[in-house]
Amino acid sequence: MTAQRPVAVVTGGAAGIGWEIGQRLAADGLLVVAVDRVPALTAGENPAGIFWRELDVTDHEAVDRVFTGIEEELGPIAVLVNNAGIQRHRGIEDLAWDEWTAVVDVNLHGVFACLQAAGRRMLARGEGRIVNISSVSSRGSAGRAPYATTKAAVIGLTATAGAEWAARGVRVNAVAPGYVDTGVFRQGVEAGTLSLDTILSRIPAKRLADASEIGAAVSFLVSDQASYMNGQTLYVDGGFMVDYGVPLAKKPE
Ligand code: NDP
Repeated sequence: MTAQRPVAVVTGGAAGIGWEIGQRLAADGLLVVAVDRVPALTAGENPAGIFWRELDVTDHEAVDRVFTGIEEELGPIAVLVNNAGIQRHRGIEDLAWDEWTAVVDVNLHGVFACLQAAGRRMLARGEGRIVNISSVSSRGSAGRAPYATTKAAVIGLTATAGAEWAARGVRVNAVAPGYVDTGVFRQGVEAGTLSLDTILSRIPAKRLADASEIGAAVSFLVSDQASYMNGQTLYVDGGFMVDYGVPLAKKPE
């Protein structure tokens, strides 16, 4: 069966921000395939008809196999959103090697595997759009070394792929969300390693992001409105990155 709608693949698309990105892209008219290691679409009702395929992005051979299957069954992959990500909170001196590699495997190697597999297919057709999900943590965040490092690396990979493929019809950009009340953030709050009050005091907008606001940024970057954007990272963070976090102690006299 060949789909009428362009196909968008969202990694980690069965939950959290990935689920909301899928909802938005489906509303934009794309046929969305959530690829996730979660063995079902558990995030909620599915009126948008989002497809699901099982995939662990750390298995690069499986990435290629699953992308081939999607293209044979549903049509060419027009859009890839590299959203799957995990975190581990621990200071560098105490971090176990397998905590480091687990995060690097998903957040960097997984992003590269999917970007390369989708990019090759898109380059052969001379068109495609890829959005990688980074984070405000990319600026450096104490207690989150593998997360911050991989999210910074995603910005570098995005810039490089954006430059390499700009003249060949494939646009690659990134979205760097601030704090969103979904898995990666919620796990930290529940474990007590993140304090909601401290985080809110640090965000100029004084609220968390709604996952739909991340979906809106992805929607823009994959649309023709962003036709001259290549290799950029768009921060969707309520002003987090533009304020270094030291407010005046009081109003001046
Ligand atoms: P969630 O944990 O809610 O969702 C992530 C999804 O990705 C889950 O379904 C998860 O499955 C899946 N996933 C994890 N590892 C793999 C893998 N190896 N292969 C395929 N799927 C996988 O996270 P969020 O929605 O909060 O985060 C989504 C993205 O946004 C991440 O890249 C995160 O770093 C980024 N981000 C999040 C922020 C936040 O505040 N929430 C802020 C900035 C960036 P499973 O449950 O099995 O792990």
